[in-house]
Amino acid sequence: MLCDDAKVRPLMRTQVVIIGGGPSGLLLGQHLARAGIENIILERRSEAHVLNRIRAGVLERGLTNQLADLGIGARMSREGFVHDGTVISFGDEEIRVDFTKHTGTAVMVYGQTEVTKDLYEARHGIGGTTLHDVSDVEIHDVGSDTPSVSFTQGGQSHIIHCDFIAGCDGFHGVSRQTIPQDKRREYEKVYPFGWLGVLSETPPVHEELIYANSDRGFALCSMRNEQLSRYYLQCASDDDPARWSDDAFWDELRRRIPAAHAEALVTGPSIEKSIAQLRSFVCEPMQWGRLFLCGDAAHIVPPTGAKGLNTAASDVYYLADGLIRHYGGDSEGVDTYSTRALARVWKAERFSWWMTRLLHHFPDQSPFDTRMQQAEVSYLTSSEEAQAVLAHNYVGLPY
Ligand SMILES: Cc1cc2nc3c(=O)[nH]c(=O)nc-3n(C[C@H](O)[C@H](O)[C@H](O)COP(=O)(O)OP(=O)(O)OC[C@H]3O[C@@H](n4cnc5c(N)ncnc54)[C@H](O)[C@@H]3O)c2cc1C
Repeated sequence: MLCDDAKVRPLMRTQVVIIGGGPSGLLLGQHLARAGIENIILERRSEAHVLNRIRAGVLERGLTNQLADLGIGARMSREGFVHDGTVISFGDEEIRVDFTKHTGTAVMVYGQTEVTKDLYEARHGIGGTTLHDVSDVEIHDVGSDTPSVSFTQGGQSHIIHCDFIAGCDGFHGVSRQTIPQDKRREYEKVYPFGWLGVLSETPPVHEELIYANSDRGFALCSMRNEQLSRYYLQCASDDDPARWSDDAFWDELRRRIPAAHAEALVTGPSIEKSIAQLRSFVCEPMQWGRLFLCGDAAHIVPPTGAKGLNTAASDVYYLADGLIRHYGGDSEGVDTYSTRALARVWKAERFSWWMTRLLHHFPDQSPFDTRMQQAEVSYLTSSEEAQAVLAHNYVGLPY
C-alpha cells in the first residue's frame, strides 16, 4: 500500500533501510557498509539529540570485539576502563566476583554516549547516509521481495525501496507494531520500582562497580571515567527526580552501601538526574518477512546486569552475518535470525531478572522472600562455582 501521491515523491532505493540511529542501527550500518551493502538510516531525532543521551556504560567483550573489528575501537581502548571484577554488597558485607579468574576475560566501562559518538564519526567517515528528523515512518510490503519505507522529512514525503528493513527503533518505535498482532507474542514483566540515576563530576567511590542490596533498597555505584560517576538508587515507580535534592540523594546512597565505601564517597552537584522504569520484555518472533527487529525494538531488560546495549549488539552481529551471507548467495542466516537472536536474548533476560530479584527490595517482599535472598547471597559468597556462573553471564555469553 504505497501512498497515492507517490508520483510527487522523490524515489530512493537502497539494499537495507535501517529505522533508528541509536547504537543498534549505527552498528549495523557499519557492518553492512564494510561488506559493501548499501544502507540508509532513518532517525526520528537530530544527531545532537542522539549524541546527548546518557544510558548504558558496561560493554561486554562481544561488543568491544565488534567495535575493534570495525576499526572503531581506538578511543575506547585509550579512554575506557577494563574491569576484571565487580563488588556485590549486602548491608556491610561484600564479595568481589573476579571475572578474569572465572572467565579469562573482563568488561569495558565506556559510556554508551561515547560508543554512539564513535559510531557517528565512523559513519561520517564512510559517507553513510543518515536522515535525521524524519517522521511518519511507515513500513510497507514486508511480506514481498520488494518492501519499502515511507517517511516525511522537512515537510516532504519520501519513499525508499529496498530489499530488507532493519527495525532498530527502540521500544517505542514503529517496527515491532508492523508485525501483525496475532502473529507476535509479547512477554512482559514490569517491576514495582524504578532507578533514580545521578551523573556527577566526581571521582568514583570505588575502582569497580558496587551492586548494593540494603534493607533500604538497591543502589549501584558506577562510573564513566575518573572524574565522572554514575550512581543509582532504587525508588518508587511513581517517584519524581525533582523531589530529590542532591543532598537527599547522597545521604540515601551512603545509607545503602557498605560503611567503608560511604565514608570514601566524594559528592558534588548532579549534572543529570532521571528515573528509569524497570521492565523485562521480549517480542517473538524478531523477524517478519523482510523486517528484522534489533535491540530495544524487540526486547528490554532491567539495567541490573548491564545487558540492554550488549544484547542489542549481539542481535546486530547475527543480523549482519545473515544479511552478508544472503548477498553472498546463502539465505540461511536471515531465515534463522530470530531463532539465533532469541536464544541469546532469553539468557540475558534470565540473568537480568535474576540479578534484579537478588538485589532489590520488593514492596510485597515477605520474610520468606528475604530469607531466600539471604540464602542466595550465602551460596554466592561460599561457592566459587556460583561466582563463576555470575561472572560468565556478566561478561557476556559467547556469540
Ligand atoms: C534511560 C535509559 C537508561 C539505560 N541505562 C542502561 C544501562 O545502564 N545499562 C544497559 O545495559 N542498558 C541501559 N539502557 C538500555 C540501553 O541504553 C539500550 O538497550 C540501547 O540503547 C539499545 O539500543 P537501540 O539502538 O536498540 O535502541 P535505542 O537506543 O532506543 O535507539 C533507537 C533509536 O531509534 C529512534 N527511533 C525511534 N522511533 C523511531 C521512528 N519511528 N523512526 C525513526 N527513528 C526512530 C530513536 O530516536 C533512537 O535514536 C538504558 C536505556 C534507557 C532508556
